Amino acid sequence: MANKITMENQDWKTIGFGYRKTNYNVRCYYKNGAWGPLELSDSEYINIHMSATALHYGQEAFEGLKAFMGKDGKVRIFRMDENAKRMQYSADGILMERIPLDKFQEAVKLAVEKNMDFVPPYGCGASLYIRPLLIGSGPQIGVKPADEYLFIVFVMPVGPYFPEGFKPTDLLIMRKFDRAAPQGTGKYKVGGNYAASLTAGKKAKAEGYSAVLYLDSREKKYIDECGPANFFGIKNGAYITPESDSILPSITNKSLMKIAEDIGLKVERRRVPVEELETFEEVGACGTAAVISPIKRIYDDDLDKEYTYGTEPGPWTTKLYEKLRAIQDGDAPDPYGWVTVIE
Ligand SMILES: *Cc1c(COP(=O)(O)O)cnc(C)c1O
Repeated sequence: MANKITMENQDWKTIGFGYRKTNYNVRCYYKNGAWGPLELSDSEYINIHMSATALHYGQEAFEGLKAFMGKDGKVRIFRMDENAKRMQYSADGILMERIPLDKFQEAVKLAVEKNMDFVPPYGCGASLYIRPLLIGSGPQIGVKPADEYLFIVFVMPVGPYFPEGFKPTDLLIMRKFDRAAPQGTGKYKVGGNYAASLTAGKKAKAEGYSAVLYLDSREKKYIDECGPANFFGIKNGAYITPESDSILPSITNKSLMKIAEDIGLKVERRRVPVEELETFEEVGACGTAAVISPIKRIYDDDLDKEYTYGTEPGPWTTKLYEKLRAIQDGDAPDPYGWVTVIE
């Protein structure tokens, strides 16, 4: 319990996004053709066969979602049913055993309930990050799916993505890197896509960019997504986000599309040619970590061309961000039933 943190001794604004130990995690094993019961563990370690398919052949998928403390002292988990479905989709994509939807949600709730002391207080911008993980744990040496799987849910408090406030960052386009193949695994939330993006991500960060903006790997003509976040642009009263076979269907983006309609934007999901960057009034990256990361500049490294969007977040971006955050915190009504309240 060396790094145990409590509500009393933490500066929630500066804790950042990093691994932290909490009291318990939840585990479930698939063996002999069936999922077992949920188990509570206080260990940070797993005992795994050295020939597990997760370690050799990348049978690994994960999820990321958050829980927020409300003004009313209740904790709200955002859209966990969507994460449960997406984990099944990822499992199907790399031939892993599906974790049943109800088991996923029970495990998430249990992990939050057993770590209530770690949910940051209302209004501080910090939240409880929830990380579900599904791995092939059974041994294989030939290339085939495992016979055994392990599903784990662990949680940790994370700081606000923007400790100094909602601030725009820069993106970098480089055609010499791909994160996913056109008909590959880009649409699944699997570790392999992340391994494939580390080199480009490191280069972008070293040059002062927050992420790489990937183009479609086949033609390099259309916008795909920004490393770990989906892309959107706003112009002429429309919220425009790429349609592609190689991007991860972001639950934040799905939620923003709904809110965009509610606030009077037209929503377009279609291929977005890279030249269209010229025409957007506002641009952002969206995902669970930041909700929206507004973008002030995109630099195309191959064409030595830059696109700029102003140094402050635009009005639509700000409105979308605030509406979504208010639902998460319980400060606004939840018209679509996105929130699961833990009393
Ligand atoms: C998780 C993830 C996102 C964001 O999805 P959310 O459900 O909004 O958190 C976007 N792109 C990639 C590649 C991801 O892995």
